[in-house]
Parts: sequence; structure tokens; C-alpha cells
Amino acid sequence: MDKHEVLKQLVDMSHYLGDPSRTFAILGEGNTSARIDADTMFVKASGTCLATMGETDFLEVSISRATEILDDMNAGDADVAAALRASLCDPSEKRMPSVETMMHALLYRHYPEYGFIGHTHPVSTNALMCSIHAQEAAMGRLCPDHIVVMGHKSVFVPYVDPGLVLAREVRERVARYVEEEGVLPKAMLLENHGLFSLGATAKAVMNITEMAEKMSKILLGAYSAGGPRFMSGADIRRIDTRPDEKYRQNTLGQEK
Ligand SMILES: [Zn+2]
Repeated sequence: MDKHEVLKQLVDMSHYLGDPSRTFAILGEGNTSARIDADTMFVKASGTCLATMGETDFLEVSISRATEILDDMNAGDADVAAALRASLCDPSEKRMPSVETMMHALLYRHYPEYGFIGHTHPVSTNALMCSIHAQEAAMGRLCPDHIVVMGHKSVFVPYVDPGLVLAREVRERVARYVEEEGVLPKAMLLENHGLFSLGATAKAVMNITEMAEKMSKILLGAYSAGGPRFMSGADIRRIDTRPDEKYRQNTLGQEK
């Protein structure tokens, strides 16, 4: 895909995720990005609004430069701001990339399969992420479609300071997930914060976000009906490995 096509798809995906009828994000909430090539990505400029952003509201950032600071254990807020500025491909750019740029960049850097990332604060998903059931809500699976679109398990991230500390936490938790599960996660659920949908395509990111929010609504209903009955590990593995379910993943535009 050429760079302009990537940008066009990113703008469309952002409008979809920011559409007020979906209640995934309001005002300046959330952020989106797309990989351009091995070392560059587009990311939402800080302070812009998903619902209304145009092509010029995305900034080009160097993936390697945006992730260097993760290993500087003495870095403070001023260093983060300087690193974000230094990661901009256009040195004359005056705007700042999203505060979560480091997290987007590290996911692209370590996992070449990811092409698009969408971060939102969906209402029902956050009802669960702000509850005492956050961790089990993030990890459990409720029905076959849940697994087909979101994978057999999500990454759960306890609340930590947004920005640098969160990016480090995500780096460690995603690496552990990949090592233990042998596949890449499709969704990360952040306690007291929101959802990250990770996909090869823009369509996958939109599907994952829709499914996460639908399953959260069902789960809220299940908690109010006496408690959820999550699917068993064996039933989850069966759906995850069935050839016809793999075919459904492909036809949903989840795979490249
Ligand atoms: Zn957020």
C-alpha cells in the first residue's frame, strides 16, 4: 500500500472510531496510528479529535527514535517531551504527537505484523475496566464470535502512569503474552483507561473495537444476571483452531 492510501485508510478508521453514535471516544480522547514502512508511522497529533481529523492532523514519526527513550531509566517528563519532538520526521513541525506515541511505536517496532492501531475509551468497556472485575472481564471469552474477532485471550494492563511508564509496562506484557501464547494479541485492555485494538488492517482494528464493546455490554448484563459463565479453555482452543473459523477471520478482513 502506498503512503497516501495508508493515510486515507487511517483517516477513515479514525472517523469510524470517533463517530459520536458509537460512544468509543469523545473530544480529544483516544489515538490512532498506521505503519508506513519498517521505521515510520503516522500518529494522531496531540489535541486533535478522532471524529473530525483530516490528513494533516497525522504526524510522521520515526519508530526507532520514538522507542529509544524506553530504555533510559532516568528519563523524566521533560525528556519524554524532547524525545517525542525528536521522533518527528519533519524537524520544522511545531505540533506534538500523541502522548501514547511511544506505545504505538514499540508495537510496530517489535511486531511487523501490525499495520494499524486504534485506542479508544468505549463506555461499556470502561465500565468494566473501572470495576473490581476488570482483569477477569479482560481475559474471559463469552462466545465463539468473541474469539474469532478478538483472539483467545487479551492482554490486561493494570493502571500505571500514561506515557512512558505505560509504554514500558505494555512492552513487557505483550512480550510475555507472545512468548506464552505463541500468537500476537489483538486487543489490550487497560485498567481505569480503555482499549487498544491491534490489527494488520484498518478493518481489523474497527472489528476488534466493535466486538470488544459489544462483549462488554453482554458481560455487564451477565454480571447483573448473577455473574458471567465464561467459556472453558478447551472450548476456546477448539474455536481458535477450527479451519472454518480461520476462514471467517479471513473473510472479516482481519488478516492482510
Ligand atoms: Zn487513552
